[in-house]
Amino acid sequence: METLFITEKLKNLLPKIKEFVETELYPLETTENLTHNFSHVEPILQQKRALVKKAGLWGLHLPEEDGGLGLTLCEFGQISEVLASSPFGHFVFNTQAPDIGNTELMHKYAPKHLKEKYLKPLMDGEIRSCFSMTEPEFAGSNPTRMGTTAIKDGDDYVINGHKWFTSSADGAAFAVVMAVTNPDAAPHKRASQILVPMDTQGVKLVRNIPIMGHAGDSWASHAEMLYENVRVPQSNLIGGEGTGFLLAQERLGPGRIHHCMRFIGIAERSFDLMCRYAVSRELDEGKSLGDMQFIQGFIAESRAEIDAARLLVLRTAQQMIKFFTANMMLRVIDRAIQTHGGLGMTSDVLLSFWYSHERAARIYDGADEVHKSALARSILKNYGLDVRRK
Ligand SMILES: Cc1cc2nc3c(=O)[nH]c(=O)nc-3n(C[C@H](O)[C@H](O)[C@H](O)COP(=O)(O)OP(=O)(O)OC[C@H]3O[C@@H](n4cnc5c(N)ncnc54)[C@H](O)[C@@H]3O)c2cc1C
Repeated sequence: METLFITEKLKNLLPKIKEFVETELYPLETTENLTHNFSHVEPILQQKRALVKKAGLWGLHLPEEDGGLGLTLCEFGQISEVLASSPFGHFVFNTQAPDIGNTELMHKYAPKHLKEKYLKPLMDGEIRSCFSMTEPEFAGSNPTRMGTTAIKDGDDYVINGHKWFTSSADGAAFAVVMAVTNPDAAPHKRASQILVPMDTQGVKLVRNIPIMGHAGDSWASHAEMLYENVRVPQSNLIGGEGTGFLLAQERLGPGRIHHCMRFIGIAERSFDLMCRYAVSRELDEGKSLGDMQFIQGFIAESRAEIDAARLLVLRTAQQMIKFFTANMMLRVIDRAIQTHGGLGMTSDVLLSFWYSHERAARIYDGADEVHKSALARSILKNYGLDVRRK
């Protein structure tokens, strides 16, 4: 952990959170819990949530007026790193995506009646939510092209559309749905975000999409959704009409920092597992894996890459760093698997779980290529070349 960025608030908080994660959550990382659907482990995680509340560590990410600590992005990022060292950390502290993004969004832009009915129980961990933007028929990298519509009828919107990768829709109480409300406006002003309770008539969860062989369930799932003549009051609009993209961009900014710090937490834990194994695995009498120069190379490169990524994330807090950090994490996990040999491929250690679940990090919230291209364009602009998006 980079001590440069440790504030007074963190000095007190981080050791408590670390101890909680290590003593309460690491023991839950059993083969059974890692290979079964999320609902299998959820009851015990709910018990751990009660312990988090009891320890006064609940709602860390919330603004002060909602009982949180009013942490800066940089402060919360460092907590996120510690929580990410266990696959259950974020959920147990109620700071999991997509709920944390919806919490921030609703806090700023939802009308009072939606805050009372949905934001309060979301912050209390009584309900979950999802964010429904990406569609199978259109490139998610360019969400100005979207098939879902919300058409005014009386006091309502009537929503029709087909979505997929709506993470955590299974069991969620509501979805924040992106839909075109102003088809004749400029491309970036066509869509709006509308809160849709999941029990509204016409909301259909088609399936939890299998990812690397597992469909998952509950919070750990990614749904294909149909919205068929779904009628909700116009007062369920979040922000103004046509502000959907603006709000989505605003959500992605802090969201990417949260993701990056989570990637660093996963990389750091994978690194720790790699070092422990390198020391304990004997190749021959008196000779461990850690005596081998290749493995020493893995360790040295991983240490340097994790530290470089952390500094980069904490200092810059911009979207362009996501591709760098996601790839760093995947390289470290890969080296840690390699160091474990056959054991690394099994579900008896965390590494293969992360390898399959986190490959998506290079795609969601903006694919690597989109971010690299945006970064290169902004650099080339300083050299006088204006490469416009075609
Ligand atoms: C695990 C997971 C969870 C997700 N959760 C959610 C969610 O909760 N809600 C939601 O709405 N969506 C979610 N998504 C969807 C995600 O946001 C999209 O997958 C992402 O935006 C990419 O869109 P796409 O899949 O349509 O790929 P496309 O846009 O079709 O792009 C495919 C590939 O083309 C390349 N590419 C695209 N644009 C460019 C460019 N400009 N330059 C160069 N190359 C380019 C990239 O390599 C990209 O990977 C999730 C996705 C995953 C995998």
